[in-house]
Amino acid sequence: MTDFRTDAIHAGYTATGHDDAVSVPIYASAAFDLENSLRGRDLAAGVTQGFEYSRVANPTVDALERRIAALEGGIGAVAVSSGMAAVSYALMCAGERGGRIIAPTNLYGASVDALGDFLPQFGIEADFVDDINDLDAIEAAIRPETRAIFAETVANPSTEITDIEPIAELAHRHGIALIVDNTVPTPYLLRPIEFGADIVVHSTTKGITGHGNAIGGVIVDAGRFDWANGRFPQFTQEQQVIADPDGTLRSFADKYGAEAFIRRIRIKYLRTFGAVQSAFNAYLQLIGLETLPQRVSQQVASARTIAEHLTHTPHVIKVNYSGLGSTPQYDLVAKYFPRGVGQILSFLVDGDVSNVRRILDGTKLFAYVPNIGDARSLIVDPVNITHREVPERYKLADGVTPNLIRLSIGLEDVNDLIADLDQAIAAAY
Ligand SMILES: *Cc1c(COP(=O)(O)O)cnc(C)c1O
Repeated sequence: MTDFRTDAIHAGYTATGHDDAVSVPIYASAAFDLENSLRGRDLAAGVTQGFEYSRVANPTVDALERRIAALEGGIGAVAVSSGMAAVSYALMCAGERGGRIIAPTNLYGASVDALGDFLPQFGIEADFVDDINDLDAIEAAIRPETRAIFAETVANPSTEITDIEPIAELAHRHGIALIVDNTVPTPYLLRPIEFGADIVVHSTTKGITGHGNAIGGVIVDAGRFDWANGRFPQFTQEQQVIADPDGTLRSFADKYGAEAFIRRIRIKYLRTFGAVQSAFNAYLQLIGLETLPQRVSQQVASARTIAEHLTHTPHVIKVNYSGLGSTPQYDLVAKYFPRGVGQILSFLVDGDVSNVRRILDGTKLFAYVPNIGDARSLIVDPVNITHREVPERYKLADGVTPNLIRLSIGLEDVNDLIADLDQAIAAAY
């Protein structure tokens, strides 16, 4: 077993078979030669491995998928065109045909909107709980139609930590899958599959790409969940698209076993809805991944220093950062995050929205953008930007108020960042 730092550079790709290119080439080709009629038939039937058409698979994207699967400890991955495509496909694949999903309200804004407002239009309903670590509340919400529990491993912008292990145990006792969004910590800080998660999704736009230059997402399958346990009719129904070469109809569970979920994502969701990752974006993400450990290590160290500084900065009345060492979730930090919790933190200031506006407009190094996980440091007011679509009652319960400011710490010198925040806050009052 090689170390994460080694896998971030080598996993999922060898130069052999790629004209000896040591850096993963960009395969800008819509289609791939099927070579002859027999091979073409077998490729289409999935009994021979190879590339046919880049909506379903592409060699550059394939290297990214293999590398992320290795870094997360999964059996396979599908890269898609955005984090929201990854979230939507994973939730729909689990919930299709009348399923229900249990989730907390402190999710990324578009995920709350998907679960609370949009997926119900497709017959998939959500049961929200106030606190995802309240096992009794989760158990009380489980119904015959419940298919999955969905949570972010570290919530944004509160940095609250999900206690994955007992939630996975509870889910599995009921035959329900645990799907987690691991965007904020990245696999360098947390590998949720090791704690029992079944499906891991990412917005690779953030820490994984790390330079704010590509939108992307990925779905990773742990390969352990039994999709034929009776709760998931979509996995046991026979389907033409995966028929054997002799015409025999097959179901995903029967044909692919442990790989049923990730195969269904590729063969049904990517093939039909088509939110495909481009080869060029996959290339940018592969380059970003090479330095993920080094970038995140430095960002975590800076985020901690800045969080501590803000706890004694005038006009700052509260700092949300689970990595501070003094939070109620300190035991969860020790259990899940020995390398730190991440580069996101948020803080509450006194005064009114005019003070908040002056801080946002007053920073010179922090860019005012909705993104996170960039090499540049970023600042945003979640209530107006990233969590705008979250219903008011959830925002209040999750501390997303007009005086909350979120930071994503980049790779600049930490003293320069502190000086920038200090001058912006001092000038805002
Ligand atoms: C940004 C983000 C998403 C959405 O990702 P996109 O790549 O912007 O579509 C989903 N979940 C979390 C936690 C995010 O931060």
